Parts: sequence; structure tokens; C-alpha cells
Amino acid sequence: MDQQEKIYDLIGIGIGPFNLSLAALLDEIDGVEPLFFEQKEGFDWHPGMLIEGTKMQVPFIADLVTMADPTNPYSFLNYISKNERMYQFYFLQRLDIPRREYNDYCQWVAKQLDSCQFGQRVTNIRHYKDNKELFEVEVTHMNSGEVEVYCTKHLVMGTGSVPVMPQSFRNASSEDVFHTADFLSNRDRCRKADSITVVGSGQSAAEAFRELLREQRDCGYQLDWITRSAGFESMEESKLSLEHFSPDYVNYFYQLPQHQKDEIFASQGLYYKGISNHTINDIYNLLYEYSVGREELNIGLQVLSEVKEIRPKVEGGYELECYHYQKGETFTHHSDLVIAATGYKPYVPDFVHHLEDFLEWDEKGRYKVTKDYRLVKTKETANEIYVHSGISHTHGVGSTNLGLSIHRNKVIINHLTGREVFPINEKNIFQSFNV
Ligand SMILES: Cc1cc2nc3c(=O)[nH]c(=O)nc-3n(C[C@H](O)[C@H](O)[C@H](O)COP(=O)(O)OP(=O)(O)OC[C@H]3O[C@@H](n4cnc5c(N)ncnc54)[C@H](O)[C@@H]3O)c2cc1C
Repeated sequence: MDQQEKIYDLIGIGIGPFNLSLAALLDEIDGVEPLFFEQKEGFDWHPGMLIEGTKMQVPFIADLVTMADPTNPYSFLNYISKNERMYQFYFLQRLDIPRREYNDYCQWVAKQLDSCQFGQRVTNIRHYKDNKELFEVEVTHMNSGEVEVYCTKHLVMGTGSVPVMPQSFRNASSEDVFHTADFLSNRDRCRKADSITVVGSGQSAAEAFRELLREQRDCGYQLDWITRSAGFESMEESKLSLEHFSPDYVNYFYQLPQHQKDEIFASQGLYYKGISNHTINDIYNLLYEYSVGREELNIGLQVLSEVKEIRPKVEGGYELECYHYQKGETFTHHSDLVIAATGYKPYVPDFVHHLEDFLEWDEKGRYKVTKDYRLVKTKETANEIYVHSGISHTHGVGSTNLGLSIHRNKVIINHLTGREVFPINEKNIFQSFNV
């Protein structure tokens, strides 16, 4: 185990868009020495869902830096310019860039930042208060297994989320029953299947279904889509609803009592869990085209039905036990492949839970977070753990929204540096949430 002498100002755990944005903004600020670690070999944003034709759900202005500093060299427009695509982008006339392009842009930024280290996983953190107050961060190299220990004054957690696979789906082979997070790597397998079922009705479900639908007639598989929701509901995308993804709404939400926050957040699913209207339109248009001439469709869309269990069949394929909860009836459905569009959950590494004496937790076992994105500590110390992940219970529906990442990073940088590097506007939207 190698111990590094140097004391960093900030060590970041995970390099997704939130910490990458922080790294890019800090690169332009003198006097702060940060280091960020990512376990993957390079920056890669939800690679299993980088389907051609999918697009960002936020305008390109919500890139890694522009909303804090439009002159920053790591802006999306500078990426376009350096790639000599300015005229093509100009004629494209779109704010919602392709998802693949966002990933390529982030890779372009990550490659320029010396503070971003890849192929290294943070495996433990410890807080020391004795002589010097600091955190020791244990980092494991993914290829060699070699462990190094780094010291830092502060930490920032950007560990994002991980796919959720229901326990009842795990009796099946992971090659046949897989999460949408692995959709693209299973694409060829889908093409060869006789039947495929997508389970769930969020945006990822719809994108996988649309993609399979496009190839359905060439590949000839039976294609089904099953959801326990009452319908294939669209995401709430009106401009005034989008104002829920503003600093103003975060500020309003933050000061509510915890029980009220939990109730409100649970009721806001359609702000982020539904399907984009354009995706539903694409699917409907394809279904309509396919139905011309009253062709046999070999396509099923089933609502109000929960897939309770997936059982392997002796003759091959799987039996899905489903329950129609309004009719109170159970039925079975056969499929060779099942794609679980069953969402993601925040990922908080175990070593954070091991800091149980250092951090304050609520009665549901969630860490407490200050308004300016620091974990609440039990001890008096100048060392902070800033946090991007797992804060929906404290900061609300916009916690994973990329349009809010810059605001959060501005707040974090101002606190970290102890000065107003970035002014924070109090009023950013038309409506009022507070009285
Ligand atoms: C398919 C998909 C599309 C989305 N599209 C949009 C969109 O268009 N607009 C929008 O606003 N939101 C979108 N979201 C939601 C959200 O913006 C993303 O989930 C986003 O990736 C969150 O960024 P992040 O930086 O918090 O975490 P992540 O992108 O999840 O990155 C976290 C990183 O931390 C790494 N990590 C974890 N633990 C460790 C460790 N111990 N050591 C080292 N590295 C570690 C992981 O490998 C990972 O790379 C989308 C989500 C999905 C799933």
C-alpha cells in the first residue's frame, strides 16, 4: 500500500456528469487542488442506453460549465467549435442534442482534465482528527489491484445510481433477463430471439421498446410491453412544470419538514418517471404504420399488470407470472428474453455507511444534508463531505437533473473556497413556490 504525502483540497468519488462538471469548473479556479477518481477505464455515460436517435432531456446549455460561466473553455459550444462542426450544429437548430453526443462531449472534457483519474475505485475513507484534520482515501487500481492512500481536506461524493433488478427476476439467466442498462450490449441477442418482453413504463422502457419495434418486422420476434402502471403515461414537460427543476424549487423544498418532503417527492413521479411525448409519438406512429392493411402485429401492450415472478421453462424461454391488480386475476406470459426497465437507485458506497459515528442519519437510515450540499457531521471539524448522490429526500425531485448540476457545483465551490466565486441568484423563475 502506497501512502501519498500530498494533501489535496478535495477528492471526488466517481466521475459522472456531476463531478465532471465540478472538475471542469475547478480547473479554471486558482488555489484549489482537487483529484477525482472513477472506477471505469474512461468516462462513459450510461453506455447501455446510448441508442442512436435518443436525445438529452435538458437543453445543451445545461452542459458541464455554461450556466456558471459561458466563457469557460469546457463549454459544449467550444467542443462543437474545436470539432469543426459549428455550421452543422447551427443548421441543426436543436437545443436537445443526441445522447451520444453529450457522452462524446463529456469524454472530450474528461481527457483534458489532469484532475480526473480513471480505472481507480475509492474503496475506503477514514477521518483523522489527531495532528492534522483530514480524510484518508484508499484507492484501488482496477487492473493491478494495487492500493494507494491519498489525503484530502474535503471529499465530494458523485457516485450516482445503480440499476435496480427485482429479486423475483433473478431466478433467470442474466443473459436472458437483463436490465435496460445493458440494452445495447444485448442488441444482437434480441435480434435473434423469438420473443421479447419489456417490463416497466419509464423513459428507458419506451426507448428500448421503440428500438425493438423499429426492427421487429425484419427480425420477426413477438414483442410485448408490460407495465403495472395504469397507462403508458407521459412525462410532465410543460415549461411551468419544468420550473420544479430550478434552484428556487430546491430552496423551497429544502426547508419543508422531512415527513412532508417524503410525501411530496413520492407524488412527483411524472416529473421524471414518465415517458417523453416525442418517444410515445414515435411508438404510436410505428404501430399505426404497421397496422395498415390490418397486418398481424405480433405486438402486445399490457397495462395494469405486475410481473410477479419469472420462471425458466423446461423447453426453453421463461414464464412470466403476472397479476392484473384491478381485476384481481393472475395470468402467465411466455418470453425468450425479458428486458427489465425497472429503474435505478442512488448508490451510496458501504464505506460511507461505515462512517456512522461521524455522520448524522435520519430515522429511515438516510444521511442528513445541509442546504449547501454537505453531509451533516456529529463532530466539530473543518473537513467536509460534499454530496451529489442520494439527496432526493433532502433536496427533492431535481436532485439527479443535469440542469441543476451547475447550480449545485456553484454552491459547493463557493463553500469550498470560502468566497463568492460564483454569484447565486435568488430569483430564477416566474412562479413562486413560497408565500
Ligand atoms: C439512460 C439515462 C439517461 C438520462 N438522461 C438524462 C437527461 O437527459 N437529463 C437529465 O437531467 N438527467 C438524465 N438522467 C439522470 C441523471 O442525469 C443521470 O443518472 C446522471 O448520470 C447522474 O450523474 P452522476 O454524476 O450523479 O452519476 P453517474 O453518472 O451515475 O456517475 C457516477 C459514477 O461514479 C462511479 N463510482 C461509483 N462508486 C465509485 C467508487 N467507489 N470509486 C470510483 N468511482 C465510483 C460510477 O462508476 C459512475 O461512473 C439519465 C439517466 C439515465 C439512466
